[in-house]
Amino acid sequence: MLKFACKDTGVDCDFVATGETVEEIKEKAFAHAGVVHAEILNSMTDEQKADLAKTLEANIKAV
Ligand SMILES: [Zn+2]
Repeated sequence: MLKFACKDTGVDCDFVATGETVEEIKEKAFAHAGVVHAEILNSMTDEQKADLAKTLEANIKAV
């Protein structure tokens, strides 16, 4: 199983996404961010969002 913790990207948040594939994790993480971190996302440029997606991917761990 794969796991992603929101706090690994430097955000003070206890959200953890789990799933079988990277795509599944990314989907869950962005759905979460769109609700809980909407303010951060809205203040980001497309370039910063692309960086965030990379950071997210780099922080997905096998558990
Ligand atoms: Zn979060």
